Amino acid sequence: MKKETILNSVEEHGLEFVQLFFTDVEGVFKHLELPITQIEKVLNNEIMFDGSSINGFTKIEASDMMLFPDYSTWKVDTDEKVGLFICDVYYPDGTPFEGDPRNVLRRAIDHATEQGFSSFNVGPEPEFFLFNKEGNNLVPNDNGGYFDVAPLDKTVAIRREITKSLQRLGLEVEALHHEVAIGQHEIDWKYAPGLQTADNIQLFKYTVRKIAENHGLVATFMPKPIFGENGSGMHCHMSLGNDNGNAFYDENDAIGLSETARQFIAGVLTHARANASVTNPTVNSYKRLVPGYEAPVYVAWSRSNRTCTIRIPAARGAGTRIEVRNPDPSANPYLALAVLLSAGLDGIKRQLTPPTERAENLYLMDDVTRKAQGIDTLPGSLQEAYSELENSEFLQQVLGKHVYYSFLQNKKDEWDAYRLRVSEWEKETYLNC
Ligand code: GLN
Ligand code: MG
Ligand code: MG
Ligand code: MG
Repeated sequence: MKKETILNSVEEHGLEFVQLFFTDVEGVFKHLELPITQIEKVLNNEIMFDGSSINGFTKIEASDMMLFPDYSTWKVDTDEKVGLFICDVYYPDGTPFEGDPRNVLRRAIDHATEQGFSSFNVGPEPEFFLFNKEGNNLVPNDNGGYFDVAPLDKTVAIRREITKSLQRLGLEVEALHHEVAIGQHEIDWKYAPGLQTADNIQLFKYTVRKIAENHGLVATFMPKPIFGENGSGMHCHMSLGNDNGNAFYDENDAIGLSETARQFIAGVLTHARANASVTNPTVNSYKRLVPGYEAPVYVAWSRSNRTCTIRIPAARGAGTRIEVRNPDPSANPYLALAVLLSAGLDGIKRQLTPPTERAENLYLMDDVTRKAQGIDTLPGSLQEAYSELENSEFLQQVLGKHVYYSFLQNKKDEWDAYRLRVSEWEKETYLNC
């Protein structure tokens, strides 16, 4: 997109403000807003901010950072008369900032290009809950379940409002529905190149939260808000393309999967435990990855069985893809897609062979049999996950030292903050011990 095109659309829609978005190391979406009178400065990369106040960014002694708008992300909300950009973060001397998560994903995509892939497409499925505030309590906004209709589903109007707002931001919404748990919902939109999808996830979460708040509701993307109910995942459908089309498809293979797809699967599984620290980055993430709630627990792959980390949806030809099921929506989408893609590319580079497909329900397999068959589990806690991160040279390379060390420190601090607290369950269980 050209500068002129942007200035024309400012004029045409009578825009009043411009928002500049970027993301911190934990995945928190941030923005600086400017009156539209400042648009020339924005377009000329002249906007500075204090990087020392952003989680995982710079030190107080070297805090000046710049926001360079990515022209291709220009969007206009005609209702609110606001234009927006997703920005890249730069040092004042014009070098890209290595701590910018968007930069980490760009680097991973560049490696895909170097390995001969012209596209990396991702379709995400972030689930979320809506809660009513009742005093200090948060109560699910309805009692609906999977695909329920009104009046059990009390969220039809809100999901439609969110959808229309997403459409105004250019997301091609494909489906909206009540999810399995009470108060749980899903809105899916069309896959796009990886960087655009990560931007879209950030805009999606922002939009859902904003509209929920307007209705006096609280939206949450925490992975397991309610004990005993399904949690919220963010399954990621991924494929690579090359000059011949979809690189994961092979019409001559018995199940239609290319050698490239198999090696990619092998790479994602090989790094799944360390990657979990990024794709499932919160204490709460590990309360979702347990048997019985349609979330994966095992480092395995399958065509139909949803207990595995990777499922292969039935579509073949141009739609051939893998669905990675362990990521959850508390993840920083830029870092999550960067580590998943890099793991897959590593599998291709090292020509790894995936383990045999697992058609059976692994929730039902006992531990001894599972171990004898060499099926590993995903980490059981954030501590287990960050220990894998700590030992992963692969992730240090993919994330770069800056992000790697600040992210790792955050996870350790988070785990400490959690383990020091005494829970209600502990009091109930140990009071009389
Ligand atoms: N909520 C499930 C998960 O945690 C997914 C259920 C579904 O999409 N049908 O991954
Ligand atoms: Mg879905
Ligand atoms: Mg779902
Ligand atoms: Mg899915």
